[in-house]
Amino acid sequence: MKKDLSNIKKSKYLLDKNQCIGIPTETVYGLAANAYSNQATSKIFFLKNRSKKNPLIVHYFNAKDLERDCKINLDFKKLYKKFCPGPITFVLRLKKESKISKNVTNGKKTLAVRFPNNKLTRKLLSTLKYPLAAPSANISSKLSPVSKQDVFEEFGKKLKFILDGGRSKIGLESTIINLCGKPQVLRLGGIEISKINKILKRKIIYVKKNKKISVPGQNKLHYSPGIPIRLNKKNPKKDEAFILIRKKKISSINYFYLTKNGNLKLAGKNLYKTLRKIKNLKYKSIAVERIPNIGIGQTINDRLKRASIK
Ligand code: AMP
Ligand code: MG
Repeated sequence: MKKDLSNIKKSKYLLDKNQCIGIPTETVYGLAANAYSNQATSKIFFLKNRSKKNPLIVHYFNAKDLERDCKINLDFKKLYKKFCPGPITFVLRLKKESKISKNVTNGKKTLAVRFPNNKLTRKLLSTLKYPLAAPSANISSKLSPVSKQDVFEEFGKKLKFILDGGRSKIGLESTIINLCGKPQVLRLGGIEISKINKILKRKIIYVKKNKKISVPGQNKLHYSPGIPIRLNKKNPKKDEAFILIRKKKISSINYFYLTKNGNLKLAGKNLYKTLRKIKNLKYKSIAVERIPNIGIGQTINDRLKRASIK
């Protein structure tokens, strides 16, 4: 506990000095910087090798803090009450008086915001005078990190500090919902659309492409381990890694289980960890068993599809 407190102090010290640090969240680890500072946020793009056209998600402690920068509406209130803190990102309209850096929004009048559910990161946010811009803490297009070690693998000593909050509990990025105008899901994620429908009492559509808004992971290759992935396969080829979600009678050293009983939430949690392990073991390709396209399975399939484009 004492150690946690001193690590939070250190995080605050570096962030106050416009540095970037790694932070834990329930979705994936983030590369965080002061969202009000041009200097701090431009470091995020540089470190990740990320296009400035791809806007960042800003992390707040609570809705009261958010209202310094954004206009909220009834749908936001309902979803916030049910799911926050948690793996859901809202796209809202910026207030004129908002201090959010132009780097974060790529000059747009909307902002993507989230309330991460990790004890240490929440404690950290509560001590800061500004929100944190934080995309995933990986080099652009590569695998997302779900532990301190993963972040270190991505950036090495280039990053001054990584706050260790244990393994990410959800292990998949947030669901993004645009609440400017008619609500639309822009990215599948840690919260199923059916649960959002229930709260808003109507069917929310998922738009893969939106001309006006740049949507995450629309760059062709995303979330990628850097080797080919073949989906919906019954068997692997020789020397190929095989990702499974149900226990097989026979086993082999190239079999990697996301879960053994088909539990899709657990499979989601283990996805990036497993892909990273396979990559580090230097396999040249990956086959994946069919994953049911329901609930979190949809998010897993979305990530695998984007990772598998050659
Ligand atoms: P990540 O790259 O995992 O941090 O995901 C962040 C994603 O949120 C980005 O790729 C953006 O496309 C999306 N995003 C951020 N700001 C906005 C916005 N104002 N409108 C729509 N999407 C946004
Ligand atoms: Mg990312």
